Amino acid sequence: MTAINESVRWDVVVVGAGPAGAIAARQLGLQRKRVLLIDKAALPRDKVCGGCLGGSALTLLKGIGLGHIPIACHGVPLSKFELSSGGATARIAIGERIAISRRAFDDALIREAMRAGVVVCDKVQGILQPVTDDKCRNVTLRRVGKEMNVRADVVVVATGLANVPRECVTHSTLHSLIGLGAISDHVPYNFAPGSLHMAYGSAGYVGVTAVERGRFGIAAAIDPSALAAAESPGRLVRKILQASGSMLATDWESLQWQGTPSLTRRTTPIASHRCLLVGDAAAYVQPFTGEGIGWAMQSGALVASLLVGSLSQWDSAIEYRWKQLFDKTIADRHRFCRILCTCMRIKAVRQLAVWGLRQAPCLGEPVMRYLDRPLDRTC
Ligand SMILES: Cc1cc2nc3c(=O)[nH]c(=O)nc-3n(C[C@H](O)[C@H](O)[C@H](O)COP(=O)(O)OP(=O)(O)OC[C@H]3O[C@@H](n4cnc5c(N)ncnc54)[C@H](O)[C@@H]3O)c2cc1C
Repeated sequence: MTAINESVRWDVVVVGAGPAGAIAARQLGLQRKRVLLIDKAALPRDKVCGGCLGGSALTLLKGIGLGHIPIACHGVPLSKFELSSGGATARIAIGERIAISRRAFDDALIREAMRAGVVVCDKVQGILQPVTDDKCRNVTLRRVGKEMNVRADVVVVATGLANVPRECVTHSTLHSLIGLGAISDHVPYNFAPGSLHMAYGSAGYVGVTAVERGRFGIAAAIDPSALAAAESPGRLVRKILQASGSMLATDWESLQWQGTPSLTRRTTPIASHRCLLVGDAAAYVQPFTGEGIGWAMQSGALVASLLVGSLSQWDSAIEYRWKQLFDKTIADRHRFCRILCTCMRIKAVRQLAVWGLRQAPCLGEPVMRYLDRPLDRTC
């Protein structure tokens, strides 16, 4: 922890260096704010995620001058979406989408934050302390064997699905799925280049796509009771793929699987005294439409624009404005994704969807167009 000086008062401490935290920190750094960005993981790190950047994420990146990142990091452009369920597969064309591993993408965003003057510290867990002083927030930084406190005008909490501050409560939705993910160095048999392959079954769904440097990302949203009953995560993934009619095959059991807590959740409040929550820490819906990274980055960019100019003079109206802004920009897409996910859990709907898309692939276009719309036209 030698790199951090305890006596420095930060304009903003950002806890969590995923897309939400890195973008919030970078945008504030560009406005010459003193920003400390911390992450409990050793960076760069892997993450359970399909790593697909959709139209809205790519538009946001271009809007803030980072549009070059996905291709500069050797991300793989995608041109088709394959959906397998009930023994049949539908194939539809998709708009601009790029797949990239989260190790490479998040690392690039963190580097951009550093270029904007942000101080980045990894292997440091941040714990927000209760309010004791009206004029700042204290964060305890914990690293193996060491602990120190730092002060900030504002704390941005971007901790993903874990570790929300004690002053907030997280509500998980009943029957929420959990995430599973792995990276493979081998091309699965029958993989069609440029495709995002998704297999859907009663125990959940599995997405497979090529990421940079010839590697493959596998990400799944799984019913926790099916996982508990399975012999191993790899075996359950194989079962879902086979039952869906997907022809993809590799040695799923030998991969190193990582898991997540329950996926569909909401945290309240998402704003409190000198503290704002962004990204998955604020709210998250299971990743069926593959928009989580875009939602996270958008909330990071929005929180930065809200905070510039209101750091030292905190006003409780900021808390209200953040809730409103988050609802207006992100909650709408959450609702759409939640409805789609709920419908797709019904076997007859899944089969009808695959049948309909096989008969008329253009039926998928309105959904894709809706998902690719920019989240916030001001960014
Ligand atoms: C199976 C699955 C597949 C997905 N596929 C896609 C997809 O294809 N496309 C897409 O757009 N989205 C996808 N998502 C969603 C996407 O992964 C998330 O929405 C996104 O990562 C949210 O970013 P974030 O910055 O809010 O949080 P995260 O990316 O989770 O980052 C949070 C960071 O905070 C750190 N942290 C946590 N607690 C602390 C603490 N106390 N102190 C310091 N650091 C801390 C963590 O180490 C982590 O680095 C998927 C998710 C899952 C589970």
